[in-house]
Amino acid sequence: MLTVCHLYPDLLNLYGDRGNVIAFVRRCQWRGIPVRVQEVNLGQPVDFGAVDFLLLGGGSDREQELITADLQQRAPDLAAAIEEGLVVLAICGGYQLLGRYYRTLEGAEIPGLGILDLYTEAGTKRLIGNIAVEIELDGRKIHACGFENHSGQTFLGKVKPLGRVLKGYGNNGQDGLEGARYKNVFCTYLHGPLLPKNPALTDHLLQLALRRRGMEAGLTLLDDVFETRANRVMLRRLGIKK
Ligand code: GLN
Repeated sequence: MLTVCHLYPDLLNLYGDRGNVIAFVRRCQWRGIPVRVQEVNLGQPVDFGAVDFLLLGGGSDREQELITADLQQRAPDLAAAIEEGLVVLAICGGYQLLGRYYRTLEGAEIPGLGILDLYTEAGTKRLIGNIAVEIELDGRKIHACGFENHSGQTFLGKVKPLGRVLKGYGNNGQDGLEGARYKNVFCTYLHGPLLPKNPALTDHLLQLALRRRGMEAGLTLLDDVFETRANRVMLRRLGIKK
């Protein structure tokens, strides 16, 4: 039985980020893989070591401030689970909180967990719109589509980016990098929601979660004809594909 955890579903759920949980669960169910969802709100206990896939969605500055104290208490457990291979998808506000800090436009510094070597500072311009990113998964390149809306500009330290911006802003609109990748942690600015729009990425996360539990079996192929078509339409609209 795989356990999917949505941390702070009432506070970190911008632009349909919950859809990432739904897509992950559905792709398990379509293959007969038993799965359950655990929603964890402020103050509620969770054993990250027993979680297979963790979603930290996006949230506004206000929501980030509301969860920061609660999240800090969970830092040692979460860091230990990440070191041991927990699969995490962290989006926008959730992504920023895994780094060292997020500085708002007013100059307030929201401390991050410092698990990933990166920091974020709010800029005056909102980075908003549809975005396409090239991501390499096990040597295979995919063109992921999504929607971004952030004022935070993220800069990476020693951590690797998740991908390369084909169209849009990504981490900061300057260096062409998008997201961050550390062990089995995938950070990104892509809402959309991301996983329903990009099934190859969903399956990659699922494979990693299964591998961590010693369940190496190859995944049954699913019919992704609509997802693939939708992806192509968006890439065309963004001028990436003819
Ligand atoms: N508050 C952050 C920003 O604007 C995160 C927003 C989000 O999660 N979409 O940069």
